[in-house]
Amino acid sequence: MSDLDYIFSPQTVAVVGASTTPGKVGHDIFLNILRGGYTGTLYPVNPNAMSILSVRAYPSIAEIPDEVELAIIILPPALALESVGKSVAKGVKGIVIVSAGFKEVGGEGVEIEKEIVSICREAGVRLVGPNCLGVINPLPSVRLNASFSPRMPAPGKISFISQSGALCTSVLDFAADRDFGFSKFISIGNKADVDELDLLQYLHEDIDTEVIMIYLEELRRGPEFIEVVKEITSGRRRTPVLVIKSGRTSAGARAAASHTGALAGSEAVYDSIFEQSGIIRANSINELFDYASAFTYKTTTALGKISRKLPVGNRVAIVTNAGGPGIVATDMTISSGLELAQFQPQTVGQLAQHLPSTANLHNPVDVIGDATHDRYEHALAAVLKDEGVDGALVILTPQSMTDALGTAKAIVRVARGSRKPILCSFMGVVDVSEGVKYLQEHGYPVFRFPEDAAKAFGALYQHSRWLNREELKPFKLDHDTKLAKKIVQEAMGAGKTYVGELGGLDLLKCYGFKVLPTELAKTSREAGDIAERIGFPVVLKIVSEQIVHKSDAGGVLVKLRDRGEVTEGFKKIVDSAREYDSEAVIEGVLVQKMAPKGEEVIFGMNRYPIFGPLLMFGMGGIFVEVFQDVKFSLAPVGREEAVRMIHGIKGFKLLNGFRGRPKADIHTLEKLLVSLSDMAVNHPEIMEMDLNPLLVHPEGEGATVADCRIILKEALVGAADRKLTAQNL
Ligand code: ADP
Ligand code: MG
Repeated sequence: MSDLDYIFSPQTVAVVGASTTPGKVGHDIFLNILRGGYTGTLYPVNPNAMSILSVRAYPSIAEIPDEVELAIIILPPALALESVGKSVAKGVKGIVIVSAGFKEVGGEGVEIEKEIVSICREAGVRLVGPNCLGVINPLPSVRLNASFSPRMPAPGKISFISQSGALCTSVLDFAADRDFGFSKFISIGNKADVDELDLLQYLHEDIDTEVIMIYLEELRRGPEFIEVVKEITSGRRRTPVLVIKSGRTSAGARAAASHTGALAGSEAVYDSIFEQSGIIRANSINELFDYASAFTYKTTTALGKISRKLPVGNRVAIVTNAGGPGIVATDMTISSGLELAQFQPQTVGQLAQHLPSTANLHNPVDVIGDATHDRYEHALAAVLKDEGVDGALVILTPQSMTDALGTAKAIVRVARGSRKPILCSFMGVVDVSEGVKYLQEHGYPVFRFPEDAAKAFGALYQHSRWLNREELKPFKLDHDTKLAKKIVQEAMGAGKTYVGELGGLDLLKCYGFKVLPTELAKTSREAGDIAERIGFPVVLKIVSEQIVHKSDAGGVLVKLRDRGEVTEGFKKIVDSAREYDSEAVIEGVLVQKMAPKGEEVIFGMNRYPIFGPLLMFGMGGIFVEVFQDVKFSLAPVGREEAVRMIHGIKGFKLLNGFRGRPKADIHTLEKLLVSLSDMAVNHPEIMEMDLNPLLVHPEGEGATVADCRIILKEALVGAADRKLTAQNL
């Protein structure tokens, strides 16, 4: 038995702080448990009342004559603390604190919450809350509605975890309206002890839960979360996890001085966490429920085994009796990562046999407004048989001839013989309700609008792709970590907040990056000498701690072909840099060999307090922020993650040999991205990195670093100095 069973399925419950006054939380929760038909035994605790709602009350939990498994506490913080002590002494196995006024209000609340947690941890008692709506288990064997929602949802296969109490009530209303049933429903509030990860693990083992939905505001566990949830969504007993996340909190990134920092907002971190752990993100409560209904859709295989209906590919057939909704569905299909299937000639032939001459025999198939159920049946059967079709969207708009119930029955008949998912949108409310009801009763998800059905299909496909992702053999990489550590230590020791470009190149070399011959010139003459030594053409770059993006300051000159151009160029960029920022301290000018031709990509890293290093890949150059065509992933990035990031950007097409351009060395990029992740993991002193551009050459020719920026954790000395200056001000 899991310790959280005492929270969800206790045999006995005490409501500490139960009240005789209607409208008070202590009254309403007690009433809701009572009215919900709880199958266990319920005890109100109130020192000033004989009884609550005709049930004999006890002055203290200690005086309850039986064992108590779950204590639900509805008392102000100081009294709640006292009551936690008493509950633990009484031997309860679980506690839910509903009341607010703890960590979320600051001050004393923080201390009391901490104290409560330590009492519970010491006693091995799990705690939900404080500051939450409570817990609901609608299953007939328990029927516990320990919440301040008067509504007990229907029992079902979906569990819901919410970080917001207020949202729970509206979700319950929404669910009731759409006939949704729940297995477990929980509001986690401040998550002082039990958090979403504990619950995900618990619900993953729960035989009554088939889909988990979460409303999330922030996560407190990073890499561990990904590891655990990956297993939940794609390991043994795979359970889809759907999330809706509010964008309220920031993940606490520091103010950034790099491209990566500027692009890596907290949303990017969360999106990559969800993607890396196989969680599907919904953008609204409506979408959350739509997805949940698609994920509870099941099929019985030939061997009688029941499994979730997932598309193996993304090619969708649309069957509709109206043109407009078909077009809407087509558009949404494409924006949901799906494709409109191309039918084979025999499919088109079959469609022609059963449809009138006005019908559209190609995708989207239009069976015409006067279609009755038989046209739908023939058309659907024909497209599902096509090997180029992975699933179907059936759209029905009510017309005078439409037989919604008959069509629903036809869909169920056709679907029985196929493993391919069919998602339906019966538009309208009254006219189609019988058909909708029939489909739902037979386990088929029905959506109000075609675009909802298309999005849900996209979510199913996303999950299917996640489950079938390729496992790749890890790269064998050989890094010179010893030298790398020395370089970082030297910069830190010198009190620097960054590794200069020259040091940066040395550091990157330790991790297998190809760099260009580069030297610092203090005078134009020196620049000319260096250029002659390393060979033309060369590039000149201004070196100044104050100038972050050198091109902005006119600080970069490329393709300089002879000594004359170099000495002149030296003066030119020093002048423009001075003009750009008269206070900038100019250390000199880098003379760098011109790189061979390549596509400009960006590699980046930004370190977050809880989540650790966030890696970035995208199309690079000076327009990164304009196009924002980038992908993120939390470290450690392995080969599969690297492939996902590189293949995931829009510009991947350009790298993969677009319109006769040579295919870029993608394999090297994948290796280097894993190396950059290793670098981030090995050197916690590095806070941010930007390799922009990294020039990737044609296949087999590797990639060259043309610009790097590496920012360090503030050396202790530097930080202390800065504080002093701030105080002096
Ligand atoms: P910044 O990003 O600070 O403006 P960069 O060093 O990235 O400066 O230089 C600006 C642009 O010049 C790069 O995006 C790239 O297109 C080009 N460039 C810089 N160094 C080289 C090089 N060694 N070889 C070829 N092109 C270069
Ligand atoms: Mg650059």
